[in-house]
Amino acid sequence: MEIPMDTVWKTALTSLRGKLSSENFGTWLAPIVFDGLSDRTLSLRIPNRFYQDWITNHYQDLLFESLKAELPEGEAPTKIAWTVDEALQEKVKDRAADLKRSEQRNDVQVAAAPVAAVASRKESPLTRPFADLNPKYRFDNFVVGPSNQLAHAASKAVGSAPGRRYNPLFIYGGVGLGKTHLMNAMGHEMLRSNPDACILYLSAERFTNEFIWSLQNHCIDEFRKQYRENCDLLLMDDIQFLAGRDQTQEEFFHTFNALYHQDRQIVVTSDVYPHEISKMEERLISRFQSGMVADIQPPELDTRVAILQKKAEVEDINLPGDVAHYLAQVVKSNVRELEGTLLRLAVKADLLARPIDLNLARESMRAVLPPPDQAMSVEDIQRAVCHYFNLKLSDIKSKRRHRNISYPRQVAMYIARERLGTSYPELGERFGGKDHTTVISAVRKISGLLEHEDESTGTAIEAIERKLGLA
Ligand code: ADP
Ligand code: MG
Repeated sequence: MEIPMDTVWKTALTSLRGKLSSENFGTWLAPIVFDGLSDRTLSLRIPNRFYQDWITNHYQDLLFESLKAELPEGEAPTKIAWTVDEALQEKVKDRAADLKRSEQRNDVQVAAAPVAAVASRKESPLTRPFADLNPKYRFDNFVVGPSNQLAHAASKAVGSAPGRRYNPLFIYGGVGLGKTHLMNAMGHEMLRSNPDACILYLSAERFTNEFIWSLQNHCIDEFRKQYRENCDLLLMDDIQFLAGRDQTQEEFFHTFNALYHQDRQIVVTSDVYPHEISKMEERLISRFQSGMVADIQPPELDTRVAILQKKAEVEDINLPGDVAHYLAQVVKSNVRELEGTLLRLAVKADLLARPIDLNLARESMRAVLPPPDQAMSVEDIQRAVCHYFNLKLSDIKSKRRHRNISYPRQVAMYIARERLGTSYPELGERFGGKDHTTVISAVRKISGLLEHEDESTGTAIEAIERKLGLA
């Protein structure tokens, strides 16, 4: 079946969406219009020239890589033909304006795509039309679990009573675990009770760029005024970017003090604990630690399932429980990746006009998962299963059919098939010379139990896979 080119483009973008921060995705990739691909040249339309430089330097490789994964050998693009289309610029601006209006109405239900924050570099970066909050990131769609409970509770407290107990609030945790989401949620929460509040959300990278720009263009007073005088809530994302940037750190230190002394709330995020930020001034670190420090850890399995379900609900994707469970088991470390996987699956299902089910999920994961660990053998799995069910290896390979033995045997066959992809006849061999049809029905039976969310089977498989280092 030939897959239409727009769909290839859409699928590639969806997978990129899983790899980039939503701010970057929304700013740089979402506004692009795809005009076709021929002779290995990708034709793209962009709002202005600035996009061309930026994408070429930052995203071209990723873009090519994602397209390559969707296209037959030898058809992947190797270059890009750019067209500047000013109409797109208008669209980017309209979208920003729409968003502003919807925020003014406090219409938090409106789900708009993240807006391009930087439309044209010719304008002063200091003109900021609105708080730059992402309307998608709110408390009501943030799933709370043991891994993020503390950070969530502190953020809630800040959102409803800024400048009081937790000032500053420092949130740290790995990539894609919800730091930016919580920051934006605090902003929305504060706007709800005080629509006139002045909220500044920005990355430390942007702060740095604006600072440098202001120095070069002799408007440092304007810059300082913006940050030090009118701001009720400063949300500074990814502060680790300031590492080694002494002058910007100094500037931020004074900004911090000015706000702090006016009881204005400051929230800072980082990918590491304050002390672990390399090349950060001690006095800044001690400021960060003077308030509340909360971490976010990678979510547990149940939280991952709940996040997927929430995301499916928001995106109107019909996601069966067993598929949610499967995806949550495979993608473990990062929520952004988890969401990307779900969106990718949804696009695939749409494309192929198939329902989202376990088979489709497995097929689509096979392409992206690393090849199974060669070191792991069927026997490793058999041993882990025997250990869990308290059996001997010889039991599982025997011909005995008592349920105490046949059920663990079926579980072992299922895991081996799923995780190693070993053929049915070979599995039959490894389990003491059984017929391949026995293996097929064992795998079906266990899949069926999982589909019906049979608790003890789910728990057993999870524990065994964890022991094997697979979950
Ligand atoms: P970080 O800033 O820590 O790198 P983000 O806040 O950008 O991570 O989160 C990455 C993606 O995962 C976002 O789309 C966000 O909405 C989503 N996400 C992260 N944690 C949660 C959660 N607990 N509940 C719902 N969505 C989450
Ligand atoms: Mg972030």
